[in-house]
Parts: sequence; structure tokens; C-alpha cells
Amino acid sequence: MKTTHPQHAPMTQFPVQDHCLVIGDMPLTRLAQRVGSTPFYAYDRQLITTRVNSLRQHLPPNIHLHYAMKANPMPAVVQHLANLVDGIDVASVGEMQVALNAGVSPENISFAGPGKSRQELACAIAAGIILNVESETELEQIAELAHATGFHPKVAIRVNPDFELKASGMKMGGGSKQFGIDAERVPAVLNRIAALKLAFEGLHIFSGSQNLKVDAIQEAHEKTLQLGLQLASISPMPVRHINIGGGFGIPYFPGDTPLDLSAVGANLGQLLMAIKPRLPDTRFVIELGRYIVAEAGIYVCQVLEKKISREQIFLVTNGGLHHHLAASGNFGQVIRKNYPVAVGNKMHLTETEIASVVGPLCTPLDLLADRMKLSKAEPGDFIVIFQSGAYGLTASPTSFLSHPPPMEVLV
Ligand SMILES: *Cc1c(COP(=O)(O)O)cnc(C)c1O
Repeated sequence: MKTTHPQHAPMTQFPVQDHCLVIGDMPLTRLAQRVGSTPFYAYDRQLITTRVNSLRQHLPPNIHLHYAMKANPMPAVVQHLANLVDGIDVASVGEMQVALNAGVSPENISFAGPGKSRQELACAIAAGIILNVESETELEQIAELAHATGFHPKVAIRVNPDFELKASGMKMGGGSKQFGIDAERVPAVLNRIAALKLAFEGLHIFSGSQNLKVDAIQEAHEKTLQLGLQLASISPMPVRHINIGGGFGIPYFPGDTPLDLSAVGANLGQLLMAIKPRLPDTRFVIELGRYIVAEAGIYVCQVLEKKISREQIFLVTNGGLHHHLAASGNFGQVIRKNYPVAVGNKMHLTETEIASVVGPLCTPLDLLADRMKLSKAEPGDFIVIFQSGAYGLTASPTSFLSHPPPMEVLV
């Protein structure tokens, strides 16, 4: 019986010239010279634009597209996206400042996240952005600050739904959660917002992340819109927007296949068409981080030494988990699996070998590729980790072992 090993989805977003990967029209070897040192992250501007265009093409025309910038907060990336999307979702005051500096207008910025401090709330209120309220305590603090400052904070309720996004990489709603206000408490909170005379904007319902299953996303969209409609029908104030979250996934691991965006988009179009007559003045928003930027980015490091230990080949590189925790398998993965990895200056060579790629950290966790089939590499060659434009540097413990941080470039 023939057993087929699951393969990585082909990484075709970057062209290859003379066996060298090309990023933003520049061969990787030249880009490395331009950057001046390795390791670095490179993000391709055109690929980000293309991805936004494809979302616009497949999603219903009346839906607003937001970028959740915690996926990649590099200021140049946020600046680029500020001109392409309808709003930016931030998760801290630091991110808020980047979005404001990029020229995004405050009414198109929303701030979600538990544990907002009084000072963070005060900054956000002074900026005039929308606060996605995560708890009843937070709501009272906002009301106090409104009273103290004379400003008129805009609030939306982050709802912890009574369902989960099935087959999701990270669940962010359903059951008991630190995020949002339980759906059954929302009617009382709506009344409280009315009594406090706060500017009510709408509802935010985000159930999960990294999902590749069309039927799970469709089910979540349907339940999210049902819940939104039900809460809007009892709201004493008009619901100006409903943010239905995001959660679109990308293929990382062997066996993962890309999301069928056209199926998701067509279904969402039908759902919105059905709900629109009942909520004619409500704007619908979708917020995506990973899906917009992940596939446009690579992490690049160089082989320092080729080491053989009891017949197993180790490519010891200058890059590691301190720069790219997710690729090492330590950012939310239950079972470690390899990201798509290649030798960037030796693409599609026939001479291959099974090798592991490790970093310079003194821990066995510092593993970037575990026994993968790679082009035969030598010291100086460039190791590329694909699908690294989201939750890469921003999600990594750069201080661990006190090596220097990597550069980041948008090309
Ligand atoms: C993290 C986050 C997102 C983005 O999730 P992705 O999987 O990167 O698309 C969106 N909304 C909220 C509230 C988040 O916390």
C-alpha cells in the first residue's frame, strides 16, 4: 500500500530567477546586501496590495475591511495598508499611535483587548477612537473618564458569543473567556450605555483565528449575524456597525490547503443580503490580520555551520526562535510542525538532502525546520521561512539570549 505524506502547499507568491527567490523585484541575495546583515524579515508591498484586492473582489461590496494590526505592526506596513483598507483595529495604545501616525482617522480605528488601563483608556478617549468594551468594569471607567474630561467616547460592545468558531487555530470566543461581555449580559449593558449617554457605535463579535474550513467560517458568519441582529433588535440605541471578526487562515503546515475565499465571500454576500432589510443603516465590518499580511512575508537567516551528528544534518543558522517563535512551533501549536522552509538562493535544485535548521540559542526548542527535504546547503546560504508576514517578529521573545534583533524591510 502506498502511503502519501502530506505536503506543504506550494509557495508560488515569490518568483524564482536563476534559482534565487525574488522579493519585490529584487533577488534575495541582492536584497540581503541592501539590508546589510542577516537575519531579516522582508515583506512584499505588492503582495499585500494584491491580497487586499482579492478580498475586495470576493467579499460582498458593502462590507468594510479592517486590518488587525497586531499581526504585523511594522509602521511601514501599517502605512501601506492605511491607504488600502477602511479601518485599523488596534490592541494597545502603542498600536493606536502607529495607526494615528499613519494618518488613519480616529473614527476608523477601534481598540479591543482585555485589561485596558485607565491611562490607556484616557489616551484612546482623547484620540477619539472607538473603544471595544471588554467588560462592565471597563464601561464604568470609560463613563467616569468621559465625565472627568468632557470628551464623548465612542463605545462598541465586544460580545463573547454563545458559540465557538469550529476547527479554529485559536478560539477567541464562546464559553468562558477573558474577551468581551457574555452575550446574555449584553442587553443589560446596552441599557447601561443608554443611561450613561455614551456614544454607542455597535457590536464586535470575534470568535477565532487561523481557520481554513469554509463550512466552519460560514457557520460562524451565520451565527454571528444572527446574534448581531438579535441584539440590535433589543438595543435602545441604533447599532451603527457590526464587526463580524475574521479568522481567515493561511496554509502553514503539510496538508493545509488555502482557504476558498470565493466560497466564503459568496456565502457572506447572501447572508448580508438577507439581513440588510432589517438593519438598513448598519455598516458591516470584517477584520483580518494574518490573512492580509502573512503570505507576503519571509524570514531570512544564513547558515553558519553545517554540522553532522550521528548522521543527522543540522544547518546551524544565525536566526532562531528569538526572532520567529511561531516557526519554532512554540506559538500556540499543540504538535510541532514545520513551516514551509527553503534555501532561498538554491531554489528547485535537484540535489537535496534531509536537514534540520536550528538557531544559535542554547535550547532544543530553537528548531526552525525538523528533518526537511531541502536543497543541499552550505555555510553562507540563505534559509527562507515562508508565511512569516504575520505573528513573526512581533510575536517573538527578542531578548531571549541577548542576540541582536533582526531588521525588517518592506520592499
Ligand atoms: C488578533 C485579532 C484579530 C486578527 O486575527 P487574525 O487571525 O490575525 O486575522 C482580529 N480581531 C481581534 C479582536 C483580534 O484580537
